[in-house]
Amino acid sequence: MLVIGSGPAGSAVTKRLTDLGAKVVCLEQGDWVRPGKYPSERANWETELRRYFYPNVRRLPEDYPVTTGGELRAVQMANAVGGTSIHYTAHFPRFRPSDFRVRSLDGVAADWPIRYQDLEPYYDVNDREMGVSGLNGDPQNPPRSPRPTPPLPLGVLGETIARGFDKLGWYWWVADNAIVSHIYDGRPACMSHGKCTLGCPIGSKSSADVTYWPKALRKGAVLRTRSRVREITVNSEGGVRGAIYYDQNGQLHEQLASVVVISCNGVGTPRLLLNSKSKFFPHGLANSSGMVGRNFMMHATASLEGIFDQRMNGYEGARGAVAFSQQFYETDLNRGFVRGYTFQVARTYGPVHEAWGGIVGAPLPWGGRHHEAMRKRFAHVIPLIVQGEDLPDENNRVELDPDVEDSNGIPAARVVYRNGDNNRKLIEHGLAMGRNLLEASGAVEVRNGAIVVEASHLMGTARMGDDARRSVVDAWNRAHDVKNLFIVDGSSFATSSSVNPTSTIGALALRTADGIWGRRHEWS
Ligand SMILES: Cc1cc2nc3c(=O)[nH]c(=O)nc-3n(C[C@H](O)[C@H](O)[C@H](O)COP(=O)(O)OP(=O)(O)OC[C@H]3O[C@@H](n4cnc5c(N)ncnc54)[C@H](O)[C@@H]3O)c2cc1C
Ligand code: SF4
Repeated sequence: MLVIGSGPAGSAVTKRLTDLGAKVVCLEQGDWVRPGKYPSERANWETELRRYFYPNVRRLPEDYPVTTGGELRAVQMANAVGGTSIHYTAHFPRFRPSDFRVRSLDGVAADWPIRYQDLEPYYDVNDREMGVSGLNGDPQNPPRSPRPTPPLPLGVLGETIARGFDKLGWYWWVADNAIVSHIYDGRPACMSHGKCTLGCPIGSKSSADVTYWPKALRKGAVLRTRSRVREITVNSEGGVRGAIYYDQNGQLHEQLASVVVISCNGVGTPRLLLNSKSKFFPHGLANSSGMVGRNFMMHATASLEGIFDQRMNGYEGARGAVAFSQQFYETDLNRGFVRGYTFQVARTYGPVHEAWGGIVGAPLPWGGRHHEAMRKRFAHVIPLIVQGEDLPDENNRVELDPDVEDSNGIPAARVVYRNGDNNRKLIEHGLAMGRNLLEASGAVEVRNGAIVVEASHLMGTARMGDDARRSVVDAWNRAHDVKNLFIVDGSSFATSSSVNPTSTIGALALRTADGIWGRRHEWS
């Protein structure tokens, strides 16, 4: 069996299938990144923050360009063993049961063909495989198995905002993070130095290169790095037969397989499908519905920062999220929009990031007043993120860029995106409520940023559904059009929820592996 992409999705499918007894080859265009090479180990780590997340800025041979249209300014991702989890913040929430029934509950977007209960056991397995810290007992979410490691410390920052939540009577809970707080699975406990998004140098952050991959490789999975797939090939019956890929010397090969799983993320997956044209699929593989690349979602997001007289020391401690609140998660039409948002209590980076404008992008004054402003701000800030549900819209899309290619001459992806009216109203509400919260917590000043126009949560572009005319994959992540093709990553999300996607991606990937194995008589 062939898996393409080695991030949280591809690694989970590979490990699960290998455990079940399948022979699996994974093709990954990137390479292993040695922790010693992470910018988090270097003195200029903060300036690296500005370039490290962006393939168009890094321009490594393994990156592919992603051009943008509409309001979107940039797409963030990593192309390496472990995929974008090398750089993710590692907040690890789950979808809520309502997220799978948005059409039934609120008359918008779509229902998923599966329910929370279908994914629940896989969320638990994924948490154990990855290594998660957190606290059981969240009263507003379904119970879950004991967290593999205890929660990360709240610190003075978390305790301060918790008092604000309590004062307003708003629900909040300690966040689940894919960062281990104790020694776990041979990995060391987090040392709280806060540079996680640039790559954890000691392996406490649960990126797929240190979680799934070592275990999958020990079990016999084959991971071929610097192997960039150009297209998926089809056989004379219109089933998939394998993939054509470039090795690091630019030589072409075809890897044959009885089953192909695509896990290249919400941009890379539609790009590969659209690049895989044949007489059976003239508009791209698995695209008879025309939905490949459509309904791109990325979360409606904006940030605030509260400035406090006391020190909050936000630069100490793992990034992830300190705490979260889903007080405004579900639809209340009195607010003027549907669905809702999560508050994530974040931490800060270092002084350079703060001088440049911190999480709200408002730079400190340069010159005479700089030191005074810096003394008041740096170490005195609580950052708060408003992350809202982004409704699917067919006009928001991933397509092929006719003018731009990667280093192998393969057409690049172009992502076109505009925030809808619902997003703007939701963010306006979230910023107003966030201001109330920070003031209730004791902030002497509150500043907010604009709605974010960069994408890091890449979803919706090969959506799951029962109706083959309106969706790309079925309830088991199998392509409606091709019985031995599976697609699992954020692209298969029917809706975005207002929580971060990766634990749901991992759970879906494990379930997909079970589905493939359960049908093995169809392709053996
Ligand atoms: C700065 C940042 C912070 C984030 N924080 C969070 C967070 O706190 N919580 C959360 O849940 N999520 C977070 N995310 C999102 C998270 O990183 C992604 O959801 C997750 O990595 C997606 O996993 P994936 O396996 O689907 O895709 P990826 O991790 O993107 O992996 C896809 C892999 O496929 C490979 N690939 C693509 N095309 C080809 C090809 N043609 N041939 C061969 N290989 C190919 C790529 O090289 C890549 O390695 C964050 C993302 C960013 C950028
Ligand atoms: S704070 Fe913890 S998870 Fe983050 S980089 Fe440091 S050790 Fe790794």
